[in-house]
This record gives sequence, structure tokens and C-alpha cells, in this order.
Amino acid sequence: MIEPSIKAKLKTIVGDKYLSDDPVELYCYSHDLVSRALSWVDDNYRIMADLVVKPDNADQVKSIIDLANEESLKIIPRGAGTSYGGQFLPIEGGVVLDFSRMNHIIKIDTEDNYAIVEPGVLYKDLGKVLRNTGRGYWIPCNPGSADVCTIGGMIANDASGESAIKYGTTKDYVLNLKTILGTGQKVQLGRQVKKTVAGLDLLSLFVGSEGTLGVITEAALEFLPLPESFVTILGYFDSIEVAVQIAKEIKEMIIPMSIEMVDQLVLSGMNSYLSRLTPKMVLKIAKAAILVRLDGDEKTTSDYANRIKNLFSRNQHASDIKILRGLEHEYIWKARDGAGPSLLRIRRPEKNPSSLIPAILDFSVPYSKIYNLMEQFGEIMRSHNLIFTRMGHLGDGNVHFISTVTLKSKADVQKMGDLQEQLVTLATSLGGSVSAEHGCGIWKAPYLGTVLGEEVVELMGKIKSIFDPNNILNPGKMYSINKLAIFSN
Ligand SMILES: Cc1cc2nc3c(=O)[nH]c(=O)nc-3n(C[C@H](O)[C@H](O)[C@H](O)COP(=O)(O)OP(=O)(O)OC[C@H]3O[C@@H](n4cnc5c(N)ncnc54)[C@H](O)[C@@H]3O)c2cc1C
Repeated sequence: MIEPSIKAKLKTIVGDKYLSDDPVELYCYSHDLVSRALSWVDDNYRIMADLVVKPDNADQVKSIIDLANEESLKIIPRGAGTSYGGQFLPIEGGVVLDFSRMNHIIKIDTEDNYAIVEPGVLYKDLGKVLRNTGRGYWIPCNPGSADVCTIGGMIANDASGESAIKYGTTKDYVLNLKTILGTGQKVQLGRQVKKTVAGLDLLSLFVGSEGTLGVITEAALEFLPLPESFVTILGYFDSIEVAVQIAKEIKEMIIPMSIEMVDQLVLSGMNSYLSRLTPKMVLKIAKAAILVRLDGDEKTTSDYANRIKNLFSRNQHASDIKILRGLEHEYIWKARDGAGPSLLRIRRPEKNPSSLIPAILDFSVPYSKIYNLMEQFGEIMRSHNLIFTRMGHLGDGNVHFISTVTLKSKADVQKMGDLQEQLVTLATSLGGSVSAEHGCGIWKAPYLGTVLGEEVVELMGKIKSIFDPNNILNPGKMYSINKLAIFSN
């Protein structure tokens, strides 16, 4: 509950129109898929922000943070709200900072290849402008949510995706950031240069800090020349094991832009997505499919596409191998990006809300352990009678599993917790991480100690207290384990 006098001060900062305490709007800012489902069976998950404010510039953000320090308000920065780790959940109430008004592209510099943007700019919108600038440019660290996510959210999560194998993650493109720390201090981290070893790398510390150290008000991002051509090689396989083996052979031939593996159910989800597009495109339903995306000049991509096609053709477990270009190439990647949400369309509607199990979406393991992880994951899920999918950015050992658990009672929440423990134990026993790209937020925080060591988590907490001594920014995430993230008794 925020005092009327504080609300009045916030209104003076952002303007009447840009502050909301409407419960309907607040609800929309207060949940992700997991907390929403949990809130139906356990009142503790009825999370609610106190206010949403929409600042227009860095000075307003600074005034809000100064006020938060004076009045002990909690501040939750928010981009498009697409995170899977519960990063943007206002678990202690407080003020959600929505950056949708700070959505300006300030500068595109083609001499030094960087763009300066406000945090609320959508990755998609920046991409469109870059494509149409001069000879055409891009920032290739596209997450699956590329059409809707913001640059601020991508930086705060160090987002990446299918092209990380060749092009790395968001942090590889951030040249500098203007931020307002939890203390209210304005600082600029980094310079408009690619290489610098001048002092500790606080810029990298900020990328991936999930809105817990400071608020990004402006970012300079490097961009690259857009490749001349893109091509996809698609092949279907009799088993996931063969698909994983063949992906390794591709990696030894070339570092492609992407190597994705999808299983049978994901192929159905992709078909459900493709059925809405014209011209029609239908994928074969096989145990596994591999999509290899190549980018570069026409000749090199064509040569390698043929070599990969031949590699697939020589494998007796492969079928229906195709080289896709143009619209087919575009559609198949749209379908892959939309595969997760599309699965919900082919799933029998539940009377009761379901929940994505927080731990299972996003693991990474060393390449040699990918198949073990997928296989043993399957065994665990079958032992719980759950429907599940397996897919992955195979190039970098990042595997996504999707399943939902129907929650009808607190006992189901406990079961979900037990299952989550089993999966995390599996991934970590194989030398893996509990998050390859989606981030930590609240749901993965209980496992950071296991993955990194408790002493490292403690050090991270000390760093947080330097940047945000009053713990006003995105509290209850990453550095501590919130009771909401514990599903067992
Ligand atoms: C269908 C789907 C597919 C996805 N695929 C991928 C994928 O392939 N790879 C991947 O990495 N992720 C993926 N994600 C997760 C998520 O979309 C990305 O991490 C995305 O970059 C988050 O951006 P956002 O604008 O939604 O940020 P939000 O979710 O709103 O916020 C993310 C974090 O950023 C902080 N934040 C936002 N703005 C600021 C700011 N100005 N200053 C400081 N902190 C700020 C928030 O507090 C929060 O901690 C996917 C999500 C969906 C729904």
C-alpha cells in the first residue's frame, strides 16, 4: 500500500496520465504464467504491484529512484514482460517502471556501426530500422521473443537465442549503458569502442543483472553488416540420438548461424503455427528434425548447404532433406520461434490452470551430455505421466524442455516442486547450468548456490549492496531465495 502523498509525488514526476493504480491494469503487470497458475491454488501467489508508472526520460527515472530511497519504495523495472524466470514479478509489491514511453532510437551511426537507443525500443523495431539503413545492418543475438521484447529487457537478461553459436549473446553488442543505480547515482558504463581493458568491466556486470543493480536509461549497441543471404537445411531423423550426433558432425564442418533440434511434438506445434500462414507449409512429423541456418555470401552458403544436405543424405536414419530459401526459410524460423506458445494451441484445454514447471524450460550442458540430458529428462517425465517436448539450440548445448503440470491443489504444487528438484539434479549432475539464456529471476534463484557455489552467491549479494544499498530494485530475486520459489513443504 503506497500512501496518497507518495502517489501524488509520483504523479508530479511522470504526469497524471502515466501513473495507474487500476487493479485490472495492476494485475496484468503482476503475473507470469507460473505465478498466475499458482495463484489459483495458493493465496500466497496473489502477487500485486501497488502502482505502474511510465517515465518519459532519465531525469524522471532518477526522481523516482530518489523518492524510492527516501520512502522505502520497491521499484521493478519492466520491458515487455516476456521473461520466463519471473524476473519482473513485483513479489514484494511496489512500483512497476514501464519503459514503453522511452522507446526512441536516438542515433544510428554507420561510420562507427553503433545505435543509441532508449530501453523501451523493441528489438524488432530497431532491427527494421537497421535493415533499411544504408547497405543494411543487424544485431544478430535474436531471442525467440524477438518480435515483442525490448532492448532494456534483453540487456538486463543478456538474452540470446538460436544464433548464439556464431554470434554470441546480447552482451557482445553492448558498447555502453547510461544507468541510474539503486543509490540514485547516474553513471555511464563503457565507451563507444569494441575493445577496452580500462579497469574492472562493470558494463558486463550490468548486462544480465536483471534490473537489480540499476535502471538502464540509454544503451549504445554495436551492429554488423547484414549478410547477403540466408539458407536453411531441414532434415528429419528417426531418433533424437541420431539428430544430436549429426549436429556434432555439422559443428565440425562449419560454425553455422544456428543448429536447432526439435522433437515430434514441437513439429506439431510448428505445424499449428504454419497453418495460419499463406502459402501453406506442412512439416513431416518425425521423432526429430534438425534445422541448420547458414548466413553469408551466396556462394559460400550454397556450397555449405549442399555439403550439409549430402551429410544428411548419407545417414540412413535421415529423410525428406530440403534446402529452404526465401519465404519457406522465413516461415520455418518464425514457426520455430513460436513453437513454445503454439504448443498451447494443440493441447487439450484444461478446466484448471496449468503451470510451466519453472525449472525445466532452459538448461545447458556440455555438448557430449546433451543426449543423456534429453533421454533421462524423458524418463523422468514419463514416470510422472507428463506430456513433454524437447528442443534445443544444439550448437551451444542449450536445451529447452516444455511441459505443463495441472495444478488443482497445494499437493500438486508440492509434486511440481519434487519434479523440479529431480530435473535440476539431473542437469547439474551432468555438469550443466539451470539457465542457459532465460535468466534467474525468482524461480531459478534456489539453484544458484548449487550451480555456482554458495560463496559466489554471497559475493554477488555484496556487489548488489554496493549498487543498491537499500535494496529498492527488483527485490527478492537472484541474491536470495524467496519463499514463493520453494514448492516443497
Ligand atoms: C516465446 C518466448 C520465447 C523466448 N525465447 C527466448 C530466447 O530464445 N532467448 C532468451 O534469452 N530469452 C527468451 N525468452 C525470454 C525473454 O523474452 C527475453 O529474455 C527478453 O529479452 C526479455 O525482454 P522483455 O522486454 O520482455 O523484458 P522483461 O521480461 O520485461 O524484463 C526482463 C528483465 O529486465 C529488467 N529490465 C527491463 N527493462 C529494464 C531497464 N530499463 N533497466 C534495468 N532493468 C530492466 C526487468 O526488471 C527484468 O529483470 C523468450 C520468451 C518468450 C515468451
